[in-house]
Amino acid sequence: KAMLARIEAVDPKVNAYITVTPEEALAAAEAADRRIAAGDMTPLTGIPIGLKDIFVTKGIRTTCASKILGNFVPPYDGTAVAKLKEAGAVIVGKLNQDEFAMGSSGESSAFGPTRNPWNLDCIPGGSSSGSAAAIAARTATATLGTDTGGSIRQPASHCGCVGLRPTYGRVSRYGVIAYASSLDQVGPVTRDVTDCALMLQAVAGHDSMDSTSVEVPVPDYTKALTGDVKGLKLGLPREYYIEGLDPDVKRAMDEAIETYRGLGAEFVDISLPHTDYAVATYYLIATAEASSNLARYEGVRFGHRAEGAANLIDMFRKTRSEGFGAEVKRRIMIGTYALSSGYYDAYYLKAQKVRTLIMQDFLKAFETVDAILTPVAPTPAFKIGEKTSDPLQMYLSDIFTIPVNLAGTCGISVPAGMSTAGLPIGLQLIGRPFGEETILRAAH
Ligand code: GLN
Repeated sequence: KAMLARIEAVDPKVNAYITVTPEEALAAAEAADRRIAAGDMTPLTGIPIGLKDIFVTKGIRTTCASKILGNFVPPYDGTAVAKLKEAGAVIVGKLNQDEFAMGSSGESSAFGPTRNPWNLDCIPGGSSSGSAAAIAARTATATLGTDTGGSIRQPASHCGCVGLRPTYGRVSRYGVIAYASSLDQVGPVTRDVTDCALMLQAVAGHDSMDSTSVEVPVPDYTKALTGDVKGLKLGLPREYYIEGLDPDVKRAMDEAIETYRGLGAEFVDISLPHTDYAVATYYLIATAEASSNLARYEGVRFGHRAEGAANLIDMFRKTRSEGFGAEVKRRIMIGTYALSSGYYDAYYLKAQKVRTLIMQDFLKAFETVDAILTPVAPTPAFKIGEKTSDPLQMYLSDIFTIPVNLAGTCGISVPAGMSTAGLPIGLQLIGRPFGEETILRAAH
């Protein structure tokens, strides 16, 4: 009840929620009370949790922040959501995001932009804008987001939260609306690292409903939170500490390095030589996969259908024209172009090869270091509207997070100080595949 009252009081300013579900939340809270009274509880029993609106939820409208899904009400819960419910979590609502998770600022939502609780004139980051803003605004205790190119880590950084993108295959994507299937992964946004470990614990593991989920045993993540980083070898990739890095971000990184040194961690200069190609590679692969995944929204099976069409093709065309926003259309066009015959070899296939080189950069680095320390974003949160007219500028804000997705590995964003303007700055720890314990330990 306190959380619902907080949402009612604060969310009109922040716009972190697309849908709030008070009735379902109160019923779940009562069920949690009964479980607790019976001594049958998990760390998440009774905890108010928000879900990015990309997670399909049984009986609850799921929009992916797009007009095209209209009032789509899914008939089932995805695996991560089902696991949270089984643990006794109380789902309080569905969170705002960039439309189909395409964006870095939360501004491409069909439900209006989310605002950064630290400064309402600034973006909270994206695409999991509501997942981070709700934590910062204290309108959820923990949330789930998805990260295709940085969409958990970057908003967590801009909102002063902890955000973890697990290794590809660590968490099931069953019941998560697909953006770029070879890059998408589910993960938590929380206030601190302990909560992050508990959330990952609840959702991680193999799932027969997602053939890309991997059968690697799930460790006890809270056991990794020892408080000890002595002897831990952290890599500093020279390609990430570039001229022109924002002075506030640079200072935060320098201070973090000093703090880790004081705690006994060791630093190693490393190189990830193909970093320069990451953004271009990502925007070919992500848009190609998106153009294919989004072909299913044609007005027949889900949500919105245009009125007054002359014939079937016209109905598809009108529905998609009305239903998708500008950024989604841009990406469908880029992706369709990159996949078209004659261009496939030059763009998509080439991008897949460069992706392998980027992956190999990381595997080589992990021969000498336990984790890699980098900034999350080149600048703190920018002003709402500042980059909307320049998509390329917007794409470049993911330069430090995108390589992790291309490599299929894990990364965590953790608060590392404030800018002179009073905005949070995060640092990123990148781990080897299924090395979540190591980055959780270093983040803690
Ligand atoms: N900002 C990146 C994009 O627009 C990443 C988004 C994401 O991780 N979902 O594609």
